[in-house]
Amino acid sequence: MRIAIGGIQHESSDFSPVETPLAEFLADGRWFDAEMLRRRPGDTNTVIDGFIKGVRKHGVEMVPLFWSHAPSARQPTFETHQSLKARLLEPLRAALPVDGVLLSLHGGYSVQGLDDGDGDILKAVRQLVGPDCPIMAVHDPHCNVGPDMIENANALIIMDTYPHVDMAERALEATALMVRTIRGEIQPAMAWCSLPMFWAASKMISAEEPIRSAYECVFEIERRPGVLVAGIGLGYQWADNPTAGASTIVVTDGNRQSAQETADELGRWLWERRADWQRQPVAPPAALDEGECIGRYPIILADQADNPGGGAPSDNTEILRLFIERDLQDAAVLYIRDRETVQTAKAAGVGATVDVEVGGKSHPLSAPPVPMKAEVLAVSDGRFIYDGPMWAGSEGNYGDSVLLKQDGIYVAVISEMYQPMDLAFPRSLGLDCRTLRYICVKSTGHFRSGFGPIAGSIFNVDALGVFTQDFAKLPFERLGRKIYPIDPDAAW
Ligand SMILES: [Zn+2]
Repeated sequence: MRIAIGGIQHESSDFSPVETPLAEFLADGRWFDAEMLRRRPGDTNTVIDGFIKGVRKHGVEMVPLFWSHAPSARQPTFETHQSLKARLLEPLRAALPVDGVLLSLHGGYSVQGLDDGDGDILKAVRQLVGPDCPIMAVHDPHCNVGPDMIENANALIIMDTYPHVDMAERALEATALMVRTIRGEIQPAMAWCSLPMFWAASKMISAEEPIRSAYECVFEIERRPGVLVAGIGLGYQWADNPTAGASTIVVTDGNRQSAQETADELGRWLWERRADWQRQPVAPPAALDEGECIGRYPIILADQADNPGGGAPSDNTEILRLFIERDLQDAAVLYIRDRETVQTAKAAGVGATVDVEVGGKSHPLSAPPVPMKAEVLAVSDGRFIYDGPMWAGSEGNYGDSVLLKQDGIYVAVISEMYQPMDLAFPRSLGLDCRTLRYICVKSTGHFRSGFGPIAGSIFNVDALGVFTQDFAKLPFERLGRKIYPIDPDAAW
């Protein structure tokens, strides 16, 4: 039994000012060809390593293809997409026949001039392997599911967590399904349901209500006889195309009608509770006041409108300015992406005091740069090992990075598009986040992976930003349907 593994991952936005050239996918540490995949120990909490671990566990032959990811940002060009697709398809063509194909695809990938990049990859793989070879993919829950994805895959498995701590687990599940399918023990039949609804990202934290109850529904469905997999696509809302929005997917053993009925049932359950998945905006000063009232530290402000994990530029200065105005002590902003400041501070060196204009350079909504006279506490090449649980064991590379300090405020400034996920990177700069009283994270939910256990209180705040969660403010043109809550009358 020969199972091919590979994938291309990107979460692509129409609204991000940050471009995604091919070089972003081919940067050091972000791509692996067949030989590099073959050598991977398969021990990190990622989908690709879950596949590697899975095929080894089942004792089947692994046919590694190509795997690459780039940080979320603007859609790549069609040429970039074609170039990446060729890197995935060529080794597959050379390896045919295979018994199955397992793909690590984000599910929220779109390309300039092509709304459903994931669907296009699945379609191309289907054309190569033919109608009888099973194809399965693991998706990020922030996926926008489209018809090409459903038509060309036998099963799509969506992660059930946010922060996404079940990447390897879902990949192992997909591998087990694939092996059973190849052996003829099961015949996956998949159906989906698309909901005209956007979900507030801070209401997606899977360990917390109200969404915890939704996942309990998913798990109840998965325990029913004949059901192989159920999942919720929470959607990626900063994509302006007709696939944007929430969805459900159900895979049964051989019964498409039952899969459809069950996907609709789960969809109806979510739709009836659509108001529960929304939230009122919270201004950063009000959140800080409330945190002080509660009195549990560190108070963490999640600057979700500037989350680079979703493609925002990560250089909004509104909360840095608030921290300075309030003269906070033991406070940190993690991370401002500002290559110019990094290079100035790096050139000055550790111990120097630099005059820099921090952040605010990418977009008018990022607020103006903040003039700082700061001490350079640390300079780094940005490499470290995530300590998780999300991405645990993987190597991170944030590019040239520095830790600055002005009065009581630390600012970690980095070169690449990454959100804070655990304490490992600040620690690599000599900053122990457990000793802080105020932390601004450029993140919506993934920071909870490492910062959740040390948080005194957490507030998802609505600073001005490119990725506002007041969806009505985004300049959508191509959704093609009414979407709740932008349009409260949206119907399903
Ligand atoms: Zn995600």
